Amino acid sequence: MDGMTRRYKLELLNSYENFKCIGSDCDFTCCSSWQIDIDKPTHEKYIQSDKQQGTRLTEHLIATDAGATIRLNERGECPLIQEDGLCSVVCQLDETYLGNHCTVYPRMRLDYNQSATSRIMLSISCQEASRLTVFNPEPVRLVRDFSEQHSALQIPLLADSYHASDNRHEGLLHTITENFVKLIQLRSVPMKKRLATVIFLTDQAQQYQLNESIEHCQAFNNEVVALLKSQLTTIPDDIATDRYNQFDLVTRISRLLLKTIQAQPIIYPVDHKVSQLITQSLQGLAIEDANHLNGQHYQNYLDAGQRYVTPYLDRNPHIMENLVGYHLLKGNLLFPAEQNRMSPLLLIMLYVLLIIGLSHGYARYHGTLDDEKLNELIFSLHRFIDHSQGTQTFLAGVCEKLSATSPEQMYTFFD
Ligand code: SF4
Repeated sequence: MDGMTRRYKLELLNSYENFKCIGSDCDFTCCSSWQIDIDKPTHEKYIQSDKQQGTRLTEHLIATDAGATIRLNERGECPLIQEDGLCSVVCQLDETYLGNHCTVYPRMRLDYNQSATSRIMLSISCQEASRLTVFNPEPVRLVRDFSEQHSALQIPLLADSYHASDNRHEGLLHTITENFVKLIQLRSVPMKKRLATVIFLTDQAQQYQLNESIEHCQAFNNEVVALLKSQLTTIPDDIATDRYNQFDLVTRISRLLLKTIQAQPIIYPVDHKVSQLITQSLQGLAIEDANHLNGQHYQNYLDAGQRYVTPYLDRNPHIMENLVGYHLLKGNLLFPAEQNRMSPLLLIMLYVLLIIGLSHGYARYHGTLDDEKLNELIFSLHRFIDHSQGTQTFLAGVCEKLSATSPEQMYTFFD
């Protein structure tokens, strides 16, 4: 049933209301790299506009059953973007001529059918959305909105609705998510311990198969609540960490990601961007060939950690917290059963690990680490993963391998 007709409760990401596209100030416009669909009514408007106003918009379109898709230029960018970075559709006509896809991004709507709840999020593959969400000193959270006609409800669904077996099951999955967010936001507990707790619970979650049984959900939630109540005192303080493991895993993944990009038939701007970021990160550690690592490279990694990454993350405890919290709220626990081949929690941890790991060499390459530099890594990597099916499959494979690893081994990845 459509969100406009069924009365849905709204939950908005706290950064949602502050979001406004920064247009030509954006360093990495979203008008490139991925398929930009034009819905049928908008396509019809373009045909009329070409006829009546001579705009020639349809020259850049390929008609499809659902309307049309924009033919990207040889650089993988939308040909309707002007040299000043502004959209020619808006400049020549007005914003009402933008298709759903262009109007909505980076907003996302997820519907939870059992509880008749719509969750409105922002995709952090957008530079500005990521800045507002991850770099906000306020903890990431959902804001409930009870107004009946909120305009956010007009955002078309960008993902399938989530299907839990019944209302109680769905409610429990939401409660687990909320408790995970509380857990990662326990600022009195060192971040290393909070991440270790998420890994511990990730391991437990795999055994519980949350999507299949209410009883399993209830038992798992009891564990999470007990941990929360204890302020994580039941998790040992002396968690063994080993930065070499972190360094080794991140450089291996970096090498494979570069290989994946180079093997692609079309290299889009986001591929160039991520390839450049990874290359700079490796160069920052003086790695010329990621197949041949030596002790000096590892020393450089340690040096980058001590000089840039650890002090910066210690000064800004909200960043990793918000990154994990955001992914939890995006509904990663509530995957439809057929997509539940691996623990979604593991994917979150892998993503966080990549960001931390790549920021080492990247900071050393630039001689600094600040919000702008880290944001560049976060939104670019996020867009790259969203854009590429191949990368998603690759990361799913890494997660499957990691899921065979013991939690003790995984703790060592996060120093
Ligand atoms: S990425 Fe975000 S800020 Fe940049 S042009 Fe797109 S919507 Fe605007």
